[in-house]
Amino acid sequence: MSNLDRQATPSVCGGRGFVVAEPVRELLSPRRVPLGESTEVRRLLPNLGRRMVGAWAFVDHYGPDDIADEPGMQVPPHPHMGLQTVSWLHEGEVLHRDSTGALATIRPRELGIMTSGRAISHSEESPKPHGRFLHGAQLWVALPAEHRHIDPHFQHHTDLPRVTAPGLTATVVLGSLDGATSPGPTYTPIVGADLALAHGTEVRLPLDPDFEYAVLSMSGEAHVDGVPVLPGSMLYLGCGRSELPLRAASDAGLMLLGGEPFEEEIIMFWNWICRSQEEIAQAREDWMNGSRFGEVKGYDGPPLAAPELPATPLKARGRVR
Ligand code: MN
Repeated sequence: MSNLDRQATPSVCGGRGFVVAEPVRELLSPRRVPLGESTEVRRLLPNLGRRMVGAWAFVDHYGPDDIADEPGMQVPPHPHMGLQTVSWLHEGEVLHRDSTGALATIRPRELGIMTSGRAISHSEESPKPHGRFLHGAQLWVALPAEHRHIDPHFQHHTDLPRVTAPGLTATVVLGSLDGATSPGPTYTPIVGADLALAHGTEVRLPLDPDFEYAVLSMSGEAHVDGVPVLPGSMLYLGCGRSELPLRAASDAGLMLLGGEPFEEEIIMFWNWICRSQEEIAQAREDWMNGSRFGEVKGYDGPPLAAPELPATPLKARGRVR
């Protein structure tokens, strides 16, 4: 950890004071978290030392898992508020259902983006039948105050813009990269891009110096600004960069995540991003009462119960602990 000092600061934070303004190379290790009965994920955000990268507030990497004889992903209906979820696959497929009535099968390098706004609920499962391997990332984007109460909606984009260079295919997931812009809805200046690198590739990616960035490794042996980043790890890069050197020692799959530093303090609890303890208590009550978050139709099983609120008051937090 390169930021032990910051861990001593209180959890109330946010704003520019916590952003690393200059380029840094801060390797974030994953925490292993069980998801449902048969899936384990590697959680990169929130991390012990770092909470957000731009508006990206949550990053899970999972697989590749051999689910040929397994149910695969089985995440029962659960609620969200104050955020967008991004489903991103390298292998396999995920069947998404939500309370707006959306039903979609997300496949590799297609964008499934759900904007919760004030309230939504959804389920995610491996369809039956499904492919042998499941490999992907689940990411959340925090909504800013002025948009966090909008109507919920879901979009599925199967043909995203691509940027290519010798040995590199970059798929623009959200925002813009090198002049190509994703059709996905954004509410803060942000970028997400999938980077497929061929063995031996050396390339420099154009960046926005006003954004902070991180790179998640999903597969292969890649060096990001000279640092080897193993699959399931993420390198935080700070701000102030106009380009990023990448080198692939094998075929490699990366995700570039970046954005303008998120100025607001937020509270993340369970599947909600809020601004106060009262909001979370209300959301919990509404979900357990079956109100406000709607109903997911067609999932074979009961919805998830919300966890108890912690005994100690929740505090707003932002970029780092
Ligand atoms: Mn979810």
